[in-house]
Amino acid sequence: MSPLRFVTKSCIQEQRNESLAGESASFPPMNTSHYHGVDHHVGNTPLIRLRRLSELTRCEILGKAEFMNPGGSVKDRAALGIILDAEAKGLLKPGDTLIEGTAGNTGIGLTVIGHARGYQSVIVIPETQTKEKIELLRTLGAEVRPVPEKPYSNPDNYNHVARRTAEEQGWFWANQFDNTANRLAHYRTTGPEIWEQTQGAVSAFVSAVGTGGTLAGTALYLRERNPSIAIGCADPYGAAMWSWFTNGNTETNDGDSFAEGIGQSRVTKNLEGLAVDAAWRIPDQEALTILYQLLREEGLFLGLSSGINIAGAVRLARERGPGQTIVTILCDSGAKYQSRIFSPQWLSANGLRTDLSVDTLLA
Ligand code: PMP
Repeated sequence: MSPLRFVTKSCIQEQRNESLAGESASFPPMNTSHYHGVDHHVGNTPLIRLRRLSELTRCEILGKAEFMNPGGSVKDRAALGIILDAEAKGLLKPGDTLIEGTAGNTGIGLTVIGHARGYQSVIVIPETQTKEKIELLRTLGAEVRPVPEKPYSNPDNYNHVARRTAEEQGWFWANQFDNTANRLAHYRTTGPEIWEQTQGAVSAFVSAVGTGGTLAGTALYLRERNPSIAIGCADPYGAAMWSWFTNGNTETNDGDSFAEGIGQSRVTKNLEGLAVDAAWRIPDQEALTILYQLLREEGLFLGLSSGINIAGAVRLARERGPGQTIVTILCDSGAKYQSRIFSPQWLSANGLRTDLSVDTLLA
């Protein structure tokens, strides 16, 4: 500790004792050993009741507030899990550089948590992602390398670029899609938190799939506690997860979605071995109608993948009837998408509406 910091702390201690003079005879010495940096504050997010949708479905529809993580998304859990696993295996040491191909949130998590633990980050991102996420990554201090969007089968897909660069430079590649430290993080944290927060009353868990870490890791834990908990996958159009879970193939020729961070076309290692009880394809308009209701009436400002998740929870409530406790994920904040789904011009240019009532989802 530098002398300056020591002096500053002593001054704070004196001030605290002074301000308490007359009220308290003594003040215990300041003990900072139980205070930690952001890398110790990932997870333990609140479970928020979505009031109107709960009333309409006569279920408890609950959202895990992952936007409250230090990097602002559910991906902080995977980022921390991957970093801790790599440290334990001796693959990362302070001063090292880590690289990842990411739609943004994993990169944000790796950068924020990486800085707290002494790493630099290089982020390869498809240039189709919002400028908000790309600019945020730069502001956070990541080296951002935008690349043209290409399918996974193309060698220039952002994940392959990240892997190749890691090999060339000797950097650590996080490999969120196939590194199962990702789903293990959800198995160890998201699942237990949901179980404890609902005091074991959770009857269903619903999530969309990006890497599949959230869905698979949480589902594996909850089913271990109670095998009758229903697991549902909410998929955007243009992705293969609905086809995979419903028909066992990875067909994707069924439309498209503006949702970022989700929309998987292959069975990643994080998804391997997972079967679900239900899967739905959710149109963007349905998710958007939910997002605007929550924004206007419940003070929740969320991104489109959260809307798809909640729409899945509502579908499950409709199919299985009242009385359930359904948990889903509020993945990230709408602030990352202001220029798109919260821009009236962008919405009208893309034929999306904000004036529909959520009642129409249950009609
Ligand atoms: N929503 C958003 C906004 C995301 O960035 C991601 C991760 N890419 C997900 C959902 C999906 O999470 P997972 O990778 O655990 O499937």
